Parts: sequence; structure tokens; C-alpha cells
Amino acid sequence: MEYEAVIGLETHVQLKTKSKMWCGCANQYGSEPNTNVCPVCLGMPGVLPVPNEEALRLTVLTGYLLNCEIPRFAKFDRKSYFYPDMPKNYQLTQYDKPSTANGFVEFEFNGAGSNNGLSRVRITRAHLEEDVGKSTHFERHSGVDFNRAGVPLMEIVTEPDITSADMAYEYLNALKEILLQGGVSDCDMEKGMVRCDVNISVRPAGSKELGAKIEIKNMNSFSGVRRAAEYEIARQIETVKRGEKLIQSTRRWDDVTGITEQMRTKEDAHDYRYFPDPDLMPLAPTDAWLAEVKSRVVELPLVRKIRIIREYQLPSSDAQAFMWNESLASYFERVAKRSKNPKTVANWVINNLRAKLSEEWTKHLNWIADPERLSDDLVKPSPPQRQQITLENLRFSDDTFLEFIGLVENRTISSSAAQQVFAEMFDTGKAPAVIVQEKGLAQVSDTGAIEKFCDEAIAANPNPVADYKAGKVAALNSLKGQVMKLSKGKANPALVGEILERKLKG
Ligand code: ADP
Ligand code: MG
Ligand code: ZN
Repeated sequence: MEYEAVIGLETHVQLKTKSKMWCGCANQYGSEPNTNVCPVCLGMPGVLPVPNEEALRLTVLTGYLLNCEIPRFAKFDRKSYFYPDMPKNYQLTQYDKPSTANGFVEFEFNGAGSNNGLSRVRITRAHLEEDVGKSTHFERHSGVDFNRAGVPLMEIVTEPDITSADMAYEYLNALKEILLQGGVSDCDMEKGMVRCDVNISVRPAGSKELGAKIEIKNMNSFSGVRRAAEYEIARQIETVKRGEKLIQSTRRWDDVTGITEQMRTKEDAHDYRYFPDPDLMPLAPTDAWLAEVKSRVVELPLVRKIRIIREYQLPSSDAQAFMWNESLASYFERVAKRSKNPKTVANWVINNLRAKLSEEWTKHLNWIADPERLSDDLVKPSPPQRQQITLENLRFSDDTFLEFIGLVENRTISSSAAQQVFAEMFDTGKAPAVIVQEKGLAQVSDTGAIEKFCDEAIAANPNPVADYKAGKVAALNSLKGQVMKLSKGKANPALVGEILERKLKG
């Protein structure tokens, strides 16, 4: 029997705020131990938490960036457990009422269920909680640093939609890119700003039921997640194939030996005794507050690229050109939306328009620096000003460009003629039909005319003709070239091929 893997990820991300979640201590990495601390983050009796509003905003902003719903009611619960690096003995976290829910992340990955190279992972929730301190174990004693205690920490939970170690890796990279570009977190892995719990199960391929969930805790690198998942998937499949049963449990990844080992099973599960924190008001974001957060949402480069691949069915390599070039992207989209052939539009925008614009930029720089123009000869009349052509002041209109795309699509002009028409259109803004007329560039699809050129080429080139008849198929290309030359590049190449073949076989 074949088995398939099911993976769900819980990713913890430190938020980019100046201060901690419930107090005014600095949210700063690398300070001397226990210097960014106060009675609140040290969990002294009687202190009261004050929520960090920027952390609340960044959580909701994340919700928008991950296509989530933003519930109009959220709250913080106490999650009770004892741990030496958590002085309050409970962690404040959003439990059953998180600030965001039901979103998705889309990213480039080819796998089961992907579409045009894009995959989706549903986001269950992104909720807000707080980080704990950090213990360090020395030879004869241990130390604990509370600088990290109370740093705002967001947890992003996926649905079990991930089907391989590679897919988990690509999801994490996309998520990191979104959070980094969105200004939510610095996502510095070296500083432990992103940590990940990996939940894995296996089941018979095609089955709808989930197998026993095994969780690998506290991974701090994406490549580690990929390696651990590869190992664990193989281990689980082997185990069930041996006829053994897997039980819900927690494991630890050892990066040196490259294996996972069991830490605890369901029987040792904590009872966290969740209950709403009586010191904190529930959250009920107003329209105005949400609107302000929403105004911080800009389309991120990666998100734009993914959307363009999806909306216009473009290959990734085309969409890449629009990832970091917002103005080129919006020009492309404006035109492509009105065209039946977005791929052709993309080709001309990327290969020709972009090149022309950068050529124009160089020309303009040369003009600015031209010593002739700069000479302070007062007798000479001042030379005319030069206006640089940019995307904002193209000489040709969108309609003109669309007309051009039409001529290319219906093969009125050959691809080499199209280059000439485009260049002229770029410089003068003239309508492509006019340029084709003036320069006599219309592609000749008149069979009579092409037959004549073919006859001439065959008569003038006995050697390739003999080669072709002797079975050298490649000789046809040289004859084709001759015909194209005779037609001054205007003959429709497909027709030329057909007619030559017919004549030579006949
Ligand atoms: P818990 O309450 O133990 O944290 P959840 O149901 O909240 O468990 O799930 C935690 C994460 O584990 C989520 O990302 C979820 O998609 C994933 N998950 C749940 N069940 C499975 C399973 N059987 N196999 C793989 N991943 C799972
Ligand atoms: Mg969990
Ligand atoms: Zn503090």
C-alpha cells in the first residue's frame, strides 16, 4: 500500500515593536542578560499588564496579508504551566477567540493540487501571545535571561494542507517574505525570531481520515524543518508498513544526528486550565481602527508576482519581471486586462518596452551630461529641452499598443517587422497600421506572390534542392531563407515552408 504525508505548521514569529507586549521594556535582542526587565515581565505579584497597541495592529495587519477574516471580538486567556523561564507561571495567549482566522497563503510550488505552479495552504489563525525567557545550561549551573520574556509573539497555524517536506519549506519561505516585506517582523532566524512546530502524520494514499499527529517541537531553521520532515515521514511510513501503530506524541529533532526522538506521548499532555485573563479587556476593534490598519497593507512583491501568475496565467519567469517593478506591473495589467492575449502583452512589455525605456534613460543621461549643451557660451541660443520618455508619458496610447498586439496576434506583421513597428511606435506614437503602410511591412500571405518567390529560389539554388531531394531535410531551411530574402522579410514563414515542401515533393 502507498502512504501519503499530511503536515500542519505552527510558526511563532516575534513582532517588530519597540517595547514588550505588556510593559514598556525594550523589545531588543542582544542586551546584557536581565537588563530589559521590570516587575510586569518578571511576573511580580500585583502588577497589571497593559497591551501593546502596535502588537495588536501588527497581528491584524498579518491577518490582512494572509487573507484572513478579522473577528470583531477577541480576547486573551491564561495558559497555565510551570517552566523556569516563565515567571508568571502562565502565558497570555489568544485561545478560542483569536484576532484573525480563516486565511490562506499562496506560493510557487508544483505538487499535488497545485495550479499553474502555485499552491495554497489555508491559515487556521494568526494569534497573539507572548514569548518566554531563555535558559542557558552551563557545566555546573543554569542561568535564565528574562529579556525575551513578554516579547510580543505571533503564532500562525496552518490547516493540515501541506503534503511534503519541500512544500513545507516553500510555504515557510513565502510566509517569511510576506512578514518581512509587510514590516511585521524582522524574521531574523539567527536571533530566534522565527520558530516552528511541525505536525506530521501519514495515511493510506487518497484516504480522507487523518493519522495520529506527531509534533516536532521548536525548529529554528527552515532547512531543519525540511530535513526533519523528510526523516519523520519516512520513519512513520516504515513504522506503519511494519504493522506497528503510531501514537499521538511529541518528538525532538537532533540536527547533528539527523533523527527525531520521542519526548512525550498524549498521556503526559498538560492540562493548561485556559481561562480569560481577568486583568485584560476583550478586544473589539472599531471600523476606524481596522481601516487604519488596513491602510498599511500594500501589495508585497511576492504577492504581486503570485497574483500575476494566477490572474494572467503567465509563467513564473515572466511574472518575475513584475515582482520588483511596480510601475511596469501596473502598466502591464492595465493593458492586459483589455487584451485576449495577456501572454503576448507580457512578452512585448518585458522584452521590448522595458528595453526601450532603459535605452531611453541612457540617452537622456547622455543628453544631460552633453558638454555641448553645458557650455556656457552665452551667444549660442539655448538648445531645445529634451523630455525623457517614461512609462508615465509614453508617446503611444494604450489603444495604440493594443492595436499593435492585434497585428502581431493575427500575423499581419512578421516578428521581425513587429520589432521595427514597435520601435517606431515608441519613438513617434504613430498608429501601427500607419507604420506598416508607410514602411511596407505587412506580411505577405498572398500564396500567388509566395509561389513566385519559391520558384525563383528553387531555380537559383540547385544544390540545396538536390540535398533536400536526397533526404537532407535541413536543406529546406536554406531555401526558406532565400525566399524570405526575396520577399524582403515579409513572406509568412509558415506558408513559405508549406509551399516549398509541396513544390519539392511534387
Ligand atoms: P493542538 O490542539 O494539539 O495544537 P491542533 O488541532 O490545533 O492541535 O493542530 C495543530 C497543528 O497540527 C495545525 O497546524 C494542524 O493543521 C496540524 N494537525 C492537526 N492534526 C494533524 C494530523 N493528523 N496530521 C498532521 N497535522 C495535523
Ligand atoms: Mg499545538
Ligand atoms: Zn517589562
